[in-house]
Amino acid sequence: MKITVAGAGYVGLVTSACLAELGHLVTCIDIQKEKIDMLQSGRSPIYEPGLESMLEKNLSSGQLHFTMNPHHAYSDAEIIFIAVGTPEKHDGSVDLKYIHVVSNLIAYYIENDVIVCTKSTVPVGTNELIQAIIDSRKPPNLQVEVVANPEFLREGSAVLDFFHGDRIVIGTDHHKVASILEQLYLPLKIPILKTDIRSAEMIKYASNAFLATKISFINEMSNFCEKVGANIEEVTFGLGYDKRIGHDFLKAGIGFGGSCFPKDTKALLHLGGHINHPFDLLEAVINVNNRQQSLPVLKAKETIGSLKNKKVALLGLAFKPNTDDVRNAASLTIVKELLEEGAVVTAYDPLAIPNARRILGNTIEYADDIRAALRDAHLAIIATEWEQIKYVPLDVYQNHMRDPIVIDGRNCYPLHEIQKYPITYLSIGRPDVNNARQKKGWE
Ligand code: NAD
Repeated sequence: MKITVAGAGYVGLVTSACLAELGHLVTCIDIQKEKIDMLQSGRSPIYEPGLESMLEKNLSSGQLHFTMNPHHAYSDAEIIFIAVGTPEKHDGSVDLKYIHVVSNLIAYYIENDVIVCTKSTVPVGTNELIQAIIDSRKPPNLQVEVVANPEFLREGSAVLDFFHGDRIVIGTDHHKVASILEQLYLPLKIPILKTDIRSAEMIKYASNAFLATKISFINEMSNFCEKVGANIEEVTFGLGYDKRIGHDFLKAGIGFGGSCFPKDTKALLHLGGHINHPFDLLEAVINVNNRQQSLPVLKAKETIGSLKNKKVALLGLAFKPNTDDVRNAASLTIVKELLEEGAVVTAYDPLAIPNARRILGNTIEYADDIRAALRDAHLAIIATEWEQIKYVPLDVYQNHMRDPIVIDGRNCYPLHEIQKYPITYLSIGRPDVNNARQKKGWE
């Protein structure tokens, strides 16, 4: 089929490359010239495992095109996927300005009947709004059907998720349109759920709100464990054996970040305000997460007192491993709080430094490798559990830091290993190994 994808971000690019890989003729449009230039020369502006090789292959075979030209993109598409950003406004509501622009462009440029699928995460009622915008401006002889088709891919494994996702949701009341999309997705052999438009929109928000709730729940439990001398890892292991609970998504840490959970939980809370439904549970989830992101600096102050002029090595900037995305990452909160305390920060990340630099500029230093970041540091904070970070031998901290004090926000190291080294080590929801070591007379 002839498919157009609006937006060459994490969702749009992966969708474009994967649909081209399935044999469709795909045009991906974006408004950022820098991105389109890079893509036309076969380079990916974002990091996603497996993406760049798929882009190169489909670009050179002619299955995939990149453009900034809306006429070229929309005029003869059979299906248009909307994958533009839906960022949050200051009050937590969703900014739909990119959705409005794309809807208007589609209406203006289409020359055929077309199915418009919204992959962007949008509040309930938005697909009806898109339909209304297009209907009011499109040529009267053309038929356009807008479908809610929310995206569930995870950054860091987005290509894998496209081909092996848990489900595909198609929200439309139009049977023929639903079956065309079913045919499109059929080769993936992923369960397809057909719903009405509003339920499809809600499925996305409900999924993200539930996952965020799981994270805040286990983080709150981890703080409890610390206070009562239990180990959150043992607790989650025991918890996960219950089939009604399961083992997934129960890892304690310094909170969720990224471009989805923080934004989507706030959007749902905001929507609740409008329909007179205060979502107390979700409000608590967000508050717990904010607190959790502040834990490393709190622990640092409790351990070494004033952070003024202390050199801090921040290990990890991306909001999670295998991505270069730093949007709403815990690292950004940590940097802000460290700088407020007068600390001097040197950060290391295998991939996310360019994106972090766009936000943090020269307020911190950036190191090309972990050892350089740790050199002469008074304190190290682990913010992202990259393999490059979690497998660093513990004697590296011991040998490079001025004071080997490590605050591990992602519980990267087994406690029994830590106990072998003269490192002051604090983690999340696990017993204090420093006391245990003192008792054994190692310090
Ligand atoms: P992104 O910021 O990485 O990419 C959005 C792209 O849209 C940008 O490149 C931007 O230039 C482009 N754009 C803006 N206006 C445009 C226009 N008029 N025409 C063409 N392109 C335009 O965003 P993303 O992370 O890919 O997310 C996109 C949507 O998908 C959001 O609604 C997000 O909530 C949702 N989503 C994201 C993820 C994720 O993991 N990133 C997962 C599921 C759903």
